[in-house]
This record gives sequence, C-alpha cells and structure tokens, in this order.
Amino acid sequence: MSVRELVVLGTASQVPTRHRNHNGYLLRWDGEGILFDPGEGTQRQMLRAGVAAHDLNRICVTHFHGDHSLGLAGVIQRINLDKVPHPVTAHYPLSGQRFFDRLRYATAYRETVDLTQAPVSADGVIADTGGYTLETARLSHPVESYGYRLVEPDGRRMLPERLAAHGIKGPDVGRLQREGALGGVSLADVSEVRRGQRFAFVMDTRLCDGVYALADGCDMLVIESTFLDDDVELAAEHGHLTAGQAARVAVDCGVRHLVLTHFSQRYTEPDEFERQARDAGFGGELTVAHDLLRVPMPKRR
Ligand SMILES: [Zn+2]
Repeated sequence: MSVRELVVLGTASQVPTRHRNHNGYLLRWDGEGILFDPGEGTQRQMLRAGVAAHDLNRICVTHFHGDHSLGLAGVIQRINLDKVPHPVTAHYPLSGQRFFDRLRYATAYRETVDLTQAPVSADGVIADTGGYTLETARLSHPVESYGYRLVEPDGRRMLPERLAAHGIKGPDVGRLQREGALGGVSLADVSEVRRGQRFAFVMDTRLCDGVYALADGCDMLVIESTFLDDDVELAAEHGHLTAGQAARVAVDCGVRHLVLTHFSQRYTEPDEFERQARDAGFGGELTVAHDLLRVPMPKRR
C-alpha cells in the first residue's frame, strides 16, 4: 500500500526552543522520501521520528537562512556514512550555491553517495518522475526563496457498473485501459477522471503571486505562519506571514488540509494560531504543527 504522509521534524523559526526544533519536514510519497528545509538538529529529529537516511531520495531547500539549511551538513554526511545505495537529488536556490557548497563540505568525511545538485533559478517544473512533477515558484523574502509543489498527474478510475453494462470483464479491462477503446466502447464510457493529489511547501515569504500559484488546489498545504495577526506589520517587514494571512490563502486556493508551522519563539500559545486561522474563514482540516507529528495526506476526493 502506498503511504503518503508528512512527518514533522521541527517547527521553530529562527531559533530552536525547549519544545520546538529548527524546521525540518519529510514527505513520504509512495516509497519516496522528500526532505524539506533541514534546520539544525534535523539528523537527531529524524532518529526520533523513525526516519532513516535510506528514506531520503530528494532534499528541497527554500532558502539559505540557518533555520532552513544548517541541518544539510549533518544530513548529507549521514547519507554518506550510511552508504545510501540510491541517488539523492538536492534542490536549492542557485543564488545560494556557495552556502550549499560550504554545508556539503563543512568538515572532512568520505563521500560514498551519488548526490546530484539540481539548483533552482526560475519558476517551473524541475523534476518529472512519472509519478509526480515537482514545481517551484519564487517567493518574497529578504534572501531569495523558492516554494515547492508536488503534483500527481490525473488518472482514470474504472467504474465496475459501467464495465458490467458493456459486458467488459477479465483481461478485456486491461486491454481497454491500454488501448483506450475496445469493440466500440471507449475508456471514457466506463471510467471517470481520478484527480491527482497536490502538495505544496511554502516557507518564508510575504504574500505574493508565488504563494497562490503553489497553494492552488492543494490537498495539503504546509505554510509558514511565523506571526499572529496582531504583528502583521512585523511580518511584512521581515518577509513573513501571519496565521490569518496563511489561512486566507488556503481559503482562496481551495486547500483541503492546512498545516501551519515555523512559529516565532515570541508566542507560547499554539491554540491562538488555530483560532486566527478559523476566524479567517478556513473550514477545512487544520493542523497547527508540533515536532514529531505525522499528518496523513487527505483521502482522494
Ligand atoms: Zn525561517
């Protein structure tokens, strides 16, 4: 059975706290693991969450502030120490190549793994695995920041009663699927569109076009809400979002499950983020993230 879930490794912006590690998020997607924004301490959080270096196939960094990237040094060395047998691809803003180089080679170690550097310098599709496309969009932050979005292509769901009505059964079902038509019956006659799932990861940004482009129609949106609404001016000044702003994006974009994270250490009451997101009109599934939480992708529509 395919597993699609978000494993939350850390949820603190800027500095870790007693209860929150620096950022870090693993998306499990049909046997593949995509690690987003590994902040300091990610290696140990992986251990605590039951995530192995072998689980990682791709690393996506939104920008080179420490809370989103200091963990690269440890995670990359661990991938090599454990001799991960498959290739691993790293995406990050090209403008931060020197930071990536320093983190990748922060100390001496033996390189054993095929780590492909695939930096991002424009909006668009950066990978197509057949199972999904990975897209990026530029965000608005004091240093160049890119959000990521994973889109599964639409498929078709066979309808047993229509198949029966046309007398199609056994190996003929597979033949119809492969060939698109069989004895005057087309695939469209006996199936319906099965919409592909969408996941977006939006960190460290003001409201901008990229935020909406990434969040559009997502089954799950993981988005920063560094500040509460009372500090909206502070948020704009530092290039961040408030809980209410993030929730209104989710409303406007038809998001099904909203995951708020990347909280400022100034706040001690997580419930307030939930209250403000609800006040902003978001009625879907809502998670105010905490470390080591697992959030399953919503069931298909
Ligand atoms: Zn940050």
